[in-house]
Amino acid sequence: MSSAQTASSRAPGGGGSAAQASGAAITVSGLTKSYGDVTAVSDVSFTVQPGEIFALLGPNGAGKTTTIEILEGYRVADKGDARVLGLDPRRDGARLKPLIGVMLQQDGLYQTLRAREILALYASFFADPEDPAQLMELVGLGGAGATRFRQLSGGQKRRLALAVAIVGKPRLLFLDEPTTGMDPQARRATWDIIQTLKAHGVTVLLTTHFMDEAERLADRIAIMDGGQIIALDTPAGLTTSQSTTGTEVRLRATPGLDMAALGKLPSVRSAREETPGVYAFDTGAPRDLLVELTGWLREHAVDMTELRVGRSTLEDVFIRLTGKEMRD
Ligand code: ATP
Repeated sequence: MSSAQTASSRAPGGGGSAAQASGAAITVSGLTKSYGDVTAVSDVSFTVQPGEIFALLGPNGAGKTTTIEILEGYRVADKGDARVLGLDPRRDGARLKPLIGVMLQQDGLYQTLRAREILALYASFFADPEDPAQLMELVGLGGAGATRFRQLSGGQKRRLALAVAIVGKPRLLFLDEPTTGMDPQARRATWDIIQTLKAHGVTVLLTTHFMDEAERLADRIAIMDGGQIIALDTPAGLTTSQSTTGTEVRLRATPGLDMAALGKLPSVRSAREETPGVYAFDTGAPRDLLVELTGWLREHAVDMTELRVGRSTLEDVFIRLTGKEMRD
């Protein structure tokens, strides 16, 4: 069995009475945090169940890192309450640390140490850690053990940060943008590791601005924007609950098309420009609508870059709820 597969094999302990009473791994209620005039997190509430992978999905500046860092005990909320495994992340930090793993967004690891020395150092903080050599292999750093941290590539640094997060066999893992900077192969390997940890009962709270990552990994997704949770559901729940009743036709073309005229096409039930250049049409007759739509575009010499029929994707849901693209 690999290192990560054994990650949750130790008996749970010291989780705290409140968590045991409520059964939740994480409880957040009314969390609010400002930096001067900037409200980073505004009245955020959610609960994460044990063994669940829960994703905070949102664009840069949405408030994801602030939320996760309050839960990790690195920042103090102005208002609201946060409980992690039944403990207060600030007050009970010493009891919480052995139970959680943290993968930070920035790589503040020791610059001049070699990769394997860093992991061995972190392993030494725990009574019963994973085997560092096995873990280096598992995260794909088997050949880079002797490389000094500052000479690792961006993706290798993220992999080492992941190894550091899981070396103590955490019951709960915080992953802040775990795959940012990784190549596609390393991303997929990281997803596999996260899924293996989940299969062994580890709870995971992750932040991401990658739709596919949230959709692929998460049991539930909280979409954050402007410091607030604007939707929270399973990936399938989000795309169905936010979908229209008929079939949807989506189009990318020049911004500012005549919506009044498009809305009058015979097969359109409703039409909207969700964000400049992104159009959505609800219809009961998609085949007819496609003919009418492409005819209209041709007549008005409008070029399109994308035309799609079918269910909404998470990205569509995000655009509909916020009126903006995930990465502006
Ligand atoms: P990213 O994906 O860029 O990390 P995020 O969703 O994690 O974004 P936060 O980092 O929590 O968002 O930032 C939320 C808001 O708070 C942003 O407007 C950000 O500029 C601001 N902010 C974050 N940290 C600080 C700080 N230490 N001082 C001042 N403003 C801050």
